[in-house]
Amino acid sequence: MTEMPTPPARGCGATPVLKERGQREVFCGLTGIIWLHRKMQDAFFLVVGSRTCAHLLQSAAGVMIFAEPRFATAILEESDLAGMADAQDELDREVARLLERRPDIRQLFLVGSCPSEVIKLDLAKAAERLTQAHAPHVRVLNYSGSGIETTFTEGEDACLASMVPILPEAQAKELLLVGALPDVVEDQALALLHAMGIERVRCLPARRADDAPGVGEGTVYALTQPFLGETHAALTRRGARHIPAPLPFGEEGTTAWLAAIATEFGVDPERFEAATAAPRARARKAVAAATATLSGKRIFFFPDSQLEIPLARFLTRECGMEAVEVATPFLHRDIVGPDLDLLPEGPVIAEGQDVDLQLDRARAARPDLTVCGLGLANPLEAEGLATKWAVELVFTPVHFYEQAGDLAELFARPLRRRARLRVEAAE
Ligand code: SF4
Repeated sequence: MTEMPTPPARGCGATPVLKERGQREVFCGLTGIIWLHRKMQDAFFLVVGSRTCAHLLQSAAGVMIFAEPRFATAILEESDLAGMADAQDELDREVARLLERRPDIRQLFLVGSCPSEVIKLDLAKAAERLTQAHAPHVRVLNYSGSGIETTFTEGEDACLASMVPILPEAQAKELLLVGALPDVVEDQALALLHAMGIERVRCLPARRADDAPGVGEGTVYALTQPFLGETHAALTRRGARHIPAPLPFGEEGTTAWLAAIATEFGVDPERFEAATAAPRARARKAVAAATATLSGKRIFFFPDSQLEIPLARFLTRECGMEAVEVATPFLHRDIVGPDLDLLPEGPVIAEGQDVDLQLDRARAARPDLTVCGLGLANPLEAEGLATKWAVELVFTPVHFYEQAGDLAELFARPLRRRARLRVEAAE
């Protein structure tokens, strides 16, 4: 049995959860396309949406378009409502044109959005029809990135969940890493697992369609992101088994995540120690550099990225912060239960949002740092609160040992900036 982190005397596992169902301030699920299109090198994301959706993608990803882009928006106008059959024909024509021009595309995702004219269009049927038309070279799938009911990380979840039913059947025992990590970070995880003697490891999403993993009763999977609830359910339906563990953020989280996998695969404790000792030491040292700024500071999480609970665990246990409130859009205990158990008792644990009530609580608490979406950050900064944009946490490599210092630094930076502003104002 490999070493596991010591839980606090009382963790948050049994803390009553404050459930809120009011007005929400969230970013939409189309955002995921920005990191998914970089990860899946032969995929194309065709958003079926409005001009607003096109603007969102262009402004969020515009600077990254240096070659042929691998996403686009098919704009549906209000007038298209009159003829749904025409809209389907138009979509077929657009897709045919795109695939003819871009033979490198092997997977095409039709991404739904929230305008009412899009909701009325049956994209699942369209994906089936287009798969038949373009098989076997291209597989067409669909998912929703709509901003009506989602938080922005649900876009990735919906995308990965849409792939699970079509993954080939596999029987052999194999580890599946689930979550779209930057290639360099994924390579670090694979190197650690190989050093532990675990050779049969596959990733979802794969970098290319031909490398798609198989799935079946021999599959055991470890999630690298806490927001993959639908994908988790879809994999379970295919007979795969989840390895519950804290998420791999920080030295402790990474070690616990690896240890849960090591236990599943019967890795010898000495081999585990040999594989992890050096990177653990590096991670501890890197985190300690930011801890001087973070220690003793109070942090408040608005619900946004769904990373809130694992990050609160990291910041309280490894960086000495005090969590005042940890709110998350959805609380998936199957996924974040191990992190919740390790989070020391004390903060309000909230699920969902009623933004005005929550703003009142944040103003009353006057935390040193508030993690929130872009829409709330500016007003809170204007009120004198230091903020961290939650969206940065998915755009920046933050997983595993080598990124632990960068992760701590992401939270230390706004505190230092505010301290500098205060000094300058005082001078
Ligand atoms: S999906 Fe909805 S929320 Fe997102 S950009 Fe389009 S219209 Fe806006």
